[in-house]
Amino acid sequence: MSTVDKTLYAHKVDMGGTKVRQPIPTNNVDQVDPFILLHHHAGIVKPDTNPKTSGVGPHPHRGFSPVTFIYKGSTHHRDSRGNDSVVHEGGAQWMNAGMGIIHSERPSKEMAQNGGETEIIQLWVNTPKAHKMDQPDYQAIEKEDAPVLNALEGDGNLSIISGEIAGLQGPVKSKLPITSAMGDLKAGSMFSLDVPVGHNAMIYLLDGSLKVDGHGLVDALNLVTFKKGSDKISFTAVEDTRILYLTGKPIEEPIESYGPFVMNNQTEIMEAMRDYQMGKMGVLIEEF
Ligand code: MN
Repeated sequence: MSTVDKTLYAHKVDMGGTKVRQPIPTNNVDQVDPFILLHHHAGIVKPDTNPKTSGVGPHPHRGFSPVTFIYKGSTHHRDSRGNDSVVHEGGAQWMNAGMGIIHSERPSKEMAQNGGETEIIQLWVNTPKAHKMDQPDYQAIEKEDAPVLNALEGDGNLSIISGEIAGLQGPVKSKLPITSAMGDLKAGSMFSLDVPVGHNAMIYLLDGSLKVDGHGLVDALNLVTFKKGSDKISFTAVEDTRILYLTGKPIEEPIESYGPFVMNNQTEIMEAMRDYQMGKMGVLIEEF
């Protein structure tokens, strides 16, 4: 069974002129270890948008994995290790920043030309101290790469991006055990999921509403977190709803973060800033 720990509403925050919803961190909740930040962004890309000035331009990261789940539209990832890839609706971009990388995240050329809706979740997954300075890597997952688990009852599916659910293995190879699945549930559909032993688990609702067994109704734009020891999570869509289901093994180490860097102490943050300024995270020259 499972016990809900917290229901965290995703308030709007301003990210350099773009409004995103952020259920974690909040003033009271630093993280749901190993998940340190969740941003939900929905917007419209106008036709004939200049791709050079849309999305997020080159910026560095070190010490964690920024992961993007694409619910609508398509996004173009480029980085200083030479990765250049567009991922479409239903897919994910899983980057392990490791010792440092510079990337940009923009609407695809096709979206910039034709316009359209975009909706993404960006999740920051922490990396244990022992692996923060590993070489970076990037994995692009398209919808068709991810196995689908059907609802026990009703019309609903969970597309498994990483980890294992009910014997189905997601395509991402992550060093830390992380289960992640993008769900599309019609009203009345029901799931019952086994949480890996020792993992923290949570569900974010992009829209609609869910009834969580042993708890009750959860509305759109909330993140539900479960108490340690929850071994089975069961829920039913009350309205059509899209969700992100996550479990992860807690790291239980101190966190010191500053902007795009997530390390264990202040000295390592200073080193990250210095290494970035010295060019040790590489160079990204975008071509349009
Ligand atoms: Mn980034």
